Amino acid sequence: MIVANIQKINQEIGSHTRLIAVSKTKPVEALLEAYQGGQRIFGENKVQELVSKELALPKDIEWHLIGHLQSNKVKYIAPFIAMIHSVDSFKLLEVINKEGEKNNRIIPCLLQVFIATEETKFGLNQEELIELIENFQSSPCKHVQICGLMGMASNVASESQIRTEFKSLKSLFDKMKASYFANDNSFKEISMGMSSDYKIACEEGATLIRVGSTIFGGR
Ligand SMILES: *Cc1c(COP(=O)(O)O)cnc(C)c1O
Repeated sequence: MIVANIQKINQEIGSHTRLIAVSKTKPVEALLEAYQGGQRIFGENKVQELVSKELALPKDIEWHLIGHLQSNKVKYIAPFIAMIHSVDSFKLLEVINKEGEKNNRIIPCLLQVFIATEETKFGLNQEELIELIENFQSSPCKHVQICGLMGMASNVASESQIRTEFKSLKSLFDKMKASYFANDNSFKEISMGMSSDYKIACEEGATLIRVGSTIFGGR
């Protein structure tokens, strides 16, 4: 069933969007089933769980951290993490840079933006986002690559509200691209859309969607 769910989503989203299978709380066996069906990108929201799954599973998996990250935990994932979606401060970016340097890696990161209108979620507002990017550009972190933006829509039934929120992330991405990353081909990712709203997210320009329960079942 897991593999069929992944195939169905991949057919719906087309080739310009990549699917991150969000496997938090699910046992290693469930991830292995997805892996054997061809899935290679997995997302987890807790460092400890991500690290133990990375140890247990094949090495060609691309691991994405999608949940809030504390500075003191960066060191555990720095050797292998494929992308950190949840950067919400310059201080955190500096720590990721330091750990990237220790591991002789450039760590791909997304800046998490607050786009929800109804709920409190982690993330930067527009001013904070600009401040972070300007900090980054004035004191470059050579071991960090800012690859784009991540956001979560409100958990509401209104499709038009969700669409408006995704549009705001896309428009913010376009602005940042034009102002700060025009010559940087790595700044290209928009991570938005979960089980309940990934189709809308794709229509609004998502390049990465993060889908859990639709693949693995409820938590
Ligand atoms: C859990 C989680 C998801 C996936 O949620 P589903 O509704 O199960 O698809 C996506 N993004 C983040 C940040 C999450 O924590």
